Amino acid sequence: MTATIIDGKEFAARVRVKVGDHVTRLKNDHGITPGLAVVLVGEDPASQVYVRSKGKMTVEVGMKSVEHKLDINTAEADLLALIGQLNNDPEIHGILVQLPLPKHLNEDLVINSISPAKDVDGFHISNVGLLGTGQKSMVPCTPLGCLMMLRDHHGSLSGMNAVVIGRSNIVGKPMAQLLLGDSCTVTIAHSRTKDLADVVRRADIVVAAVGRPEMVPGDWIKPGATVIDVGINRIERDGKKKLVGDADYESCAAVAGAITPVPGGVGPMTIACLLANTVTACCRAHGFDEPEGLTA
Ligand code: NAD
Repeated sequence: MTATIIDGKEFAARVRVKVGDHVTRLKNDHGITPGLAVVLVGEDPASQVYVRSKGKMTVEVGMKSVEHKLDINTAEADLLALIGQLNNDPEIHGILVQLPLPKHLNEDLVINSISPAKDVDGFHISNVGLLGTGQKSMVPCTPLGCLMMLRDHHGSLSGMNAVVIGRSNIVGKPMAQLLLGDSCTVTIAHSRTKDLADVVRRADIVVAAVGRPEMVPGDWIKPGATVIDVGINRIERDGKKKLVGDADYESCAAVAGAITPVPGGVGPMTIACLLANTVTACCRAHGFDEPEGLTA
């Protein structure tokens, strides 16, 4: 079997068009422009790249983009004061604090100071609780993107066996909650899981979110299963720098029914879902109907 390639780049472009259409409607019908504020503390090069592309895509879909770049030594009180201002700014509907933060800042405290309604990363403890209890919440962008691709490929996920490898708060745990919400039978595997190969072989859906290059080989995959590869790993092979996922692409694609490539799979969906969450937050703030198909 040769797997269908789930093209995240193309899917993300479709999501952005949908978001853009909604933004146009909000502007034309109500005179409202959704606004996203991104806060970056310090000069981490990878974070700078992410923030730049988030800003660019926010503007491309017609939303207002505000960037706050703070010095690496910014005091916690000053960062909290800025978040307070953004929480109260009616032109800002989504707030994202780029992680990781410098060591002297308490990440939990900072994230939990964002208004839950504007927490477009879905990391605020209230949103985590709402998602965990199956209530309407802001859903973390990467798992939301994975869910959208799975729903698009399969239609209903009900009754499928899903294995999520990785239990981080950002990807693994919310991914498992979303799959449970779609009536999958969910197993969360992690660094202490015994006989991971055996666990993965039972899965109709495998979501790999570990951060270990090509750790899932094709002979762990049940024939016809869907592999969603969240991992982004920079390696050097044959003297060339390369991005690879957590799944060994060639061997997994030979067995799986469908697979997301790295790059070009989950990655592009993450920013598209950030834009989707911002438009959703804007609609909720004004009591309008939420855009269809842009949230869980
Ligand atoms: P993390 O380091 O917070 O969590 C990794 C998880 O993997 C942990 O829960 C750990 O228990 C598990 N793990 C470690 N070794 C394992 C092993 N040998 N077997 C089974 N499980 C093991 O990482 P994260 O933030 O969840 O990110 C995971 C990967 O996804 C990274 O490569 C990251 O770069 C990538 N990522 C991609 C996107 C995207 O937009 N595509 C977004 C977020 C994260």
